[in-house]
Amino acid sequence: MENKELKNNRRDFIKKSALLAVAATALPVFKNEMFAEVVSPAETSPFTLPPLPYDYAALEPHIDTMTMQIHHDKHHAAYVTNLNKALVENKLEKVKLEDLLMKASTLPPAIRNNSGGHWNHSMFWNMMKAGGGGGNPSGEIADAINAAFGTFDDFKKKFNETAMGRFGSGWAWLVKLNGKLTVGSTPNQDNPLMDASELKGTPVLCLDVWEHAYYLHHQNKRADYVTAWWNLVNWDEVSKRFKG
Ligand code: MN
Repeated sequence: MENKELKNNRRDFIKKSALLAVAATALPVFKNEMFAEVVSPAETSPFTLPPLPYDYAALEPHIDTMTMQIHHDKHHAAYVTNLNKALVENKLEKVKLEDLLMKASTLPPAIRNNSGGHWNHSMFWNMMKAGGGGGNPSGEIADAINAAFGTFDDFKKKFNETAMGRFGSGWAWLVKLNGKLTVGSTPNQDNPLMDASELKGTPVLCLDVWEHAYYLHHQNKRADYVTAWWNLVNWDEVSKRFKG
């Protein structure tokens, strides 16, 4: 008796799930007044916090577990929550993250800051690799780095100087512009995709130099954090972004 009921419930559940799946694929595409482009619901707001691609402890000893927990679960989560809130307040629905960045100069600061925060951190987690990536890049990305900077060490020196030279909070970037690589930085949560950014290009590599990214373990010593971070760089991912 009980078994039969369970079976029926299960069959019901499967039937309902199938219906939901059909309903999901049948969802209409949305048009937005401000963003004339037709977009598909899957890539649009409200946004969700992506999970870390590795354990909190995976980047030890270079970046400690508690920093990763707070950085991802509190800071990145807050950018997502506050972005969704600001979009609701500004009556923006079903917008693409990249579209927000490209119109950042015309949007309220809460949208500019939190859309940048969400985009930048989503990229940043993938710039590092569990168990330590590190080492030197190879293939096309290595050739492009040598062509632009001389040697890999020259590139690292330039990137480090840029990361250290960013006053206050911000990001250091390696970007591709017209096929060529350059290094630069942005303040706050700005990024090179924003219309408002002085630094332009396709982000290939990024480093968060906000104090919240290193203060618990490295305290005020940003240079120690930057040095430690090179042991983690996921060159496969960087190379993919360079080619893409
Ligand atoms: Mn951060």
